[in-house]
Amino acid sequence: MELRVLVLPGDGIGPEVTAEAMGVLRRVADLFGHFVHAVDGLIGGAAIEAAGAPLPPESLQAARDADAVLLGAVGAPRFDGLPPDQRPERGLLALRQALGTFANLRPSRAWPTLLDASPLKNAVVEGTDLLIVRELTSGLYYGTPRGITGSGPGERAVNTLSYTREEIERVARVAFHLARGRRRHVTSVDKSNVLENSQLWRRVVTEVASDYPDVTLDHLLVDNCAMQLIVNPRRFDVVLTENLFGDILSDEAAVLSGSIGMLASASIGERRSSGLRAGLYEPVHGSAPDIAGRNIANPLGAIGSVAAMLAYTFELHAEARAIEAAIDQVVASGRLTADLKPAARAATTSEVGQAVRDAIAAPCSMLPAPRPLIPGPRSLIPDP
Ligand code: NAD
Repeated sequence: MELRVLVLPGDGIGPEVTAEAMGVLRRVADLFGHFVHAVDGLIGGAAIEAAGAPLPPESLQAARDADAVLLGAVGAPRFDGLPPDQRPERGLLALRQALGTFANLRPSRAWPTLLDASPLKNAVVEGTDLLIVRELTSGLYYGTPRGITGSGPGERAVNTLSYTREEIERVARVAFHLARGRRRHVTSVDKSNVLENSQLWRRVVTEVASDYPDVTLDHLLVDNCAMQLIVNPRRFDVVLTENLFGDILSDEAAVLSGSIGMLASASIGERRSSGLRAGLYEPVHGSAPDIAGRNIANPLGAIGSVAAMLAYTFELHAEARAIEAAIDQVVASGRLTADLKPAARAATTSEVGQAVRDAIAAPCSMLPAPRPLIPGPRSLIPDP
């Protein structure tokens, strides 16, 4: 199969981790007889500097032409003073919207050998295995009117939190379908005691649940969910929530895995005319300017995102599992970057990438049984 991938390395550690992830993709493609057709593009601060915009038209067109997009991260302190609509992050928001990737899947689990890397007690995190399904193309990040007006004491900032029934329903269906491939439980997170928006969210999710009688549903207020994630994370299977809450809760969930560098994500939309599902794949972390350019960033979140790409866009599940198994093997071997072990004994970004490539070289039957990072066969994701 030809895998047409647009790579948008972006800023900070983005180029370092995407280089390792692409190396892993090429390795698995070689092994399984696929051809990677990769094109590099600009996004974020790198695009502002080279082309004057956070998402140049060429990058947008290349994203539409590719089957899948692998993104590193966007953002750098030197752009923090720019108006919101010119900042690097705006390029990413525009890309997500243009690709229609409305469901962001963010798994978080506790690797047995990484329990000590979490600031939480081992007994709390052990056995954690949850999937956050975050709505990605609506809500507060996109609502209008928005902006800052006036001056002096009357200066005023407005953002709009808006969801349609249709937007809630389609992401809820993704969550319920995915729960069927897991422990069949969905926790919907909202703030319905205060926000009308959340009241509609809760009502629509409850209605959708009636189509999935084999999946149980409970509702949590977002403040309580934030607490339960660190008090009792094992209570969660699939967490379904809107854009802003999902952004915040998934960073919090990173502490369960030991490092945000471990977390992969898949942003998926509907099938395109090619028959393949639209997909934007990126690690959960940002551009980490504090460690950029030093070859010490953890590349496993980016590498896991390539596994998700193989599963969700290309529907190459054996290939995806081979990467997940290789990640598990490398984690178990203790070959880890400095976010997970003392710097003096840590491996570099490129050494961890090489270790994953080497682990993929082993016959799959010899590898330990993988626990899928992104669960579920194709049939678990609803077609429109
Ligand atoms: P961050 O995720 O970049 O970093 C938070 C902390 O985690 C830092 O201490 C960093 O060193 C560490 N970290 C992150 N990824 C790591 C990795 N792979 N290996 C080891 N350590 C890692 O979040 P931040 O510092 O709040 O934001 C930095 C910039 O990134 C900002 O400009 C922000 O807007 C942007 N950002 C972009 C995205 C994205 O592109 N999707 C997401 C979040 C933040």
